[in-house]
Amino acid sequence: MYGALDKSFIWAVKYPFDKRSIELLVDLEISLEEILSDRSFLQEANKKLKVILEEGRVPPIINGNPYRSFVIFYLQVLIVKATENSFVERRFIDAYSKFSSSFLLKENEENIKVLAKNLGINVKLYEINGEYYYGVPFYEFIKFTRKLSDKFWKIYYFPVDKGFVLLNKRNIVRLLQEAIRIRLFEIFFSIKATPKKIYSIAQDLIKEVRDIIPRNETQLKRDFITKDHRLYPPCIKYLLNNIDKGLSHSERFTLVTFLNAMGYKKEEIIQLFNLTPDFNEKMTRYQVEHILGLRGGKTRYSIPSCRKIVSYGFCKADDTCRRYSIIHPLKYVFLKKGPRK
Ligand code: SF4
Repeated sequence: MYGALDKSFIWAVKYPFDKRSIELLVDLEISLEEILSDRSFLQEANKKLKVILEEGRVPPIINGNPYRSFVIFYLQVLIVKATENSFVERRFIDAYSKFSSSFLLKENEENIKVLAKNLGINVKLYEINGEYYYGVPFYEFIKFTRKLSDKFWKIYYFPVDKGFVLLNKRNIVRLLQEAIRIRLFEIFFSIKATPKKIYSIAQDLIKEVRDIIPRNETQLKRDFITKDHRLYPPCIKYLLNNIDKGLSHSERFTLVTFLNAMGYKKEEIIQLFNLTPDFNEKMTRYQVEHILGLRGGKTRYSIPSCRKIVSYGFCKADDTCRRYSIIHPLKYVFLKKGPRK
């Protein structure tokens, strides 16, 4: 029989991105140094990553230690992030979303409901002729199925009850697989920096799997990069619209980090600030280079989270921000544009 902690780890192995699993990881208070001090963790992480990248599937866990498998998942996430390669990241995410949904197919209704809730989808259970159906709010159905190429995912193929689209088990799991992909992308967004040691491990991995990486994907090239301002969140649009009135330090900082993530070059960003009333090219160049990690300690700063932007006072949340509980400005672009499949 499994104890409560074992069960938590088993859940965490199946659904490592889940809120409960992340809480478990925090409770472990395990440091990266500790993990890296045991070389076997790294060896196992690398071995699994090679299978994931070469075969597009997560290798099965046979008689594994769930604690170990769970920790290794996060070690793999750090390595993948450090590769700075969108192909590697996407392949990892796709493999893990399929891996988790294969377990979901075997879960009972309540567990599916809990996992869906933790992914931000409030599922309503229906029992019809002794079979369970999962009611998904209409807008969530659209959000998670709009990128599925199969014609089958048209709303008129499904029964609808008071704004809920009714799905059978197989279909709710397929929809949740999409939600899991998005959650995994969010986890990657949220990693601010990767330790140097992980970076060199990641580079070794890239060398080993170079043959399977498409030529045009050897650099990090986020699929959601865009210079189309219509896809930017309202806080960023507000900053862009108010450059000519002058921006505070935190506003400038946010705008520079965001535009850089969207593919703007240093010179383009500096030129944008040309519109500010107190424009001083030397000073602007210094500040922009500092934020982009080209000066001083060479720290490359990340875009502030929504929570920070709220505290800075220029969050201008719209319906999309509220409906999807946006926690990071990049997530807004991600939702509007969507990751490439
Ligand atoms: S919720 Fe986030 S993305 Fe939306 S306006 Fe506020 S800070 Fe920007």
